[in-house]
Amino acid sequence: MSSDRLPDTLVVGGGIGGLSAALCLARRGGAVTVLERSKSFAEVGAGIQLAPNATRVLERLGVLEMILPVAVLPRRLVLADAIGSRELTSLDLTDFPARYGAPYLVLHRDDLLSALLDACARSGVALHTDANVIELRDTGASAVAVCADGREFSAGIAIGADGLHSRIRQYFTDDEPVNSGFVAYRGAVPMDQVERHADLRDVVAWIGPGLHLVQYPLRSGQMYNQVAVFRSQAYLRGAADWGNPAELAAAFAGCSEHVRESLKTLSIANRWPMLDRLPMPGWARGRVALLGDAAHPMLQYLAQGACQAVEDADVLAAELAAAGSTGRPFSEGLASYAAIRAPRAMRVQRAARTWGEIWHVDGVAKLLRDELLLDRDVADHKHVTWLYEDPAARPESDGSARAGGAAPRAQDRAGGPGHREAGGTKQRQAGGQRQREKESAP
Ligand SMILES: Cc1cc2nc3c(=O)[nH]c(=O)nc-3n(C[C@H](O)[C@H](O)[C@H](O)COP(=O)(O)OP(=O)(O)OC[C@H]3O[C@@H](n4cnc5c(N)ncnc54)[C@H](O)[C@@H]3O)c2cc1C
Repeated sequence: MSSDRLPDTLVVGGGIGGLSAALCLARRGGAVTVLERSKSFAEVGAGIQLAPNATRVLERLGVLEMILPVAVLPRRLVLADAIGSRELTSLDLTDFPARYGAPYLVLHRDDLLSALLDACARSGVALHTDANVIELRDTGASAVAVCADGREFSAGIAIGADGLHSRIRQYFTDDEPVNSGFVAYRGAVPMDQVERHADLRDVVAWIGPGLHLVQYPLRSGQMYNQVAVFRSQAYLRGAADWGNPAELAAAFAGCSEHVRESLKTLSIANRWPMLDRLPMPGWARGRVALLGDAAHPMLQYLAQGACQAVEDADVLAAELAAAGSTGRPFSEGLASYAAIRAPRAMRVQRAARTWGEIWHVDGVAKLLRDELLLDRDVADHKHVTWLYEDPAARPESDGSARAGGAAPRAQDRAGGPGHREAGGTKQRQAGGQRQREKESAP
């Protein structure tokens, strides 16, 4: 399993993570096969925010230039009070290319997936749909994926990029997704159907007790994206139909007129329970490794799940290439990818939970939070630099820099918020250790 070039690779899952990984590997000369269980490569009909830690990688891959014409480069990230309508604080995004080496942008998920697919196809990636992988075997000589229809694919290594409910993750742990009891409704609609919107130059998050609404334009302002999220009381009562549209309306009834009116054009066709998993560092064993949500599913409050998957893809390809060029086994490349990426991705997982808690507080905690946010210097980047900065641009940058992998801080290692666990109590960390970890505010 050693070579001076990249191994041939199976990627299980053709979402943003899987296609990014396939592209990064193919661009370095690897032969890649993507196995996607759906009938076509597709994404949810909604927007996505991409921060510089992802757009830097996409720029190197040539994907940034493909998506820029259909993306929006917002002026600011704004936090506003969902009840009283006051703007609480903001972050200027216009200097991001100079500050972090790449832009902050928002775009339609379909546009991102299409660009990745296109780039993969042009780079020679073999793309298979209707390929539902039900078993993955490391035979010692190769990695073999078995599909539900009996087809088998084999390669030097396999990457599990099969999302939050990953089957390949079961190869590493029997843990279960953790249900936060929050539910999201989201969707993008043509702008001419939108009666209420926030400032179209901004990404605005209206935050309130147990709920929030995020709004931003897409496709050069031709579409409008909204994500409404709330804590379901019905979930706490154990109701089967928790988080339904009636509960959505009731949850937002006390919000400002702008927020309530905005919900009239929110798509209620689908809803998503907000799940994550506890951080797990051991993502690689032998010829198999995890990537994206399969490795580190997180709550969406930092808008980083896909960004972290793109970071994974970049580091995975770099570490495999490094192993190949030094004649080390590719299993070592996979191990080193996981060792580099896990501390950072786990930190983001924890920070996302904490950030959600900060958004959703009530009572005295809300009063204090609002005062802190109102007092915050809008030019202060200390809470976001660790997420967005280019590690290679740091003066003290060393070998770990190409990982985007800052070591976890001491305060990243304490007890965590009280999320309920889906499917009972089946929780196991790699190494058998159960960890509930607390992140300081991002
Ligand atoms: C409401 C919400 C808003 C979000 N906003 C943002 C944001 O603004 N910015 C951001 O960076 N992130 C955001 N995220 C997170 C982001 O969507 C995810 O982290 C990201 O899409 C994960 O990509 P992935 O490829 O790892 O997994 P997925 O997108 O889940 O893709 C997994 C793929 O694997 C396939 N698959 C599954 N099982 C199998 C199998 N057995 N065999 C073959 N194929 C299989 C699936 O069909 C799917 O195509 C948000 C998430 C939510 C819920």
